[in-house]
Amino acid sequence: MAKKVMCVDDSSTIRMLVEKTLVPAGFEVVGAENGQIALDNVSPDIVIFLVDVNMPVMGGFEFVEKLKNRPEYKSKAVIFLTTESSAEKKEKGKTLGINGWIVKPFEPDSFLKVINMLAG
Ligand SMILES: [Mg+2]
Repeated sequence: MAKKVMCVDDSSTIRMLVEKTLVPAGFEVVGAENGQIALDNVSPDIVIFLVDVNMPVMGGFEFVEKLKNRPEYKSKAVIFLTTESSAEKKEKGKTLGINGWIVKPFEPDSFLKVINMLAG
């Protein structure tokens, strides 16, 4: 069965690019346009969360904090996929226990390597 990845990003272009990159590699991609919609639609079969930082309604940091408060998602892989690259923001990501930080726009080959590695 295809491994499920959730892409939480308010940019439909990014959600589409992620889908275009991951679906041919055998993944299923579920999109959500902000953290609230993502929280309402998470399911335990999702193996990796790709999360934008800046989104309306609920941004990435708040989303990850709330996600990790749910026991069944505590150990899920989370990667921030964002235009942000400041040391301060990355440090905040670390305190949330995330697995990686990829700056947009991403390079498909190395992006796929990271995803495959985390998907095990
Ligand atoms: Mg955004």
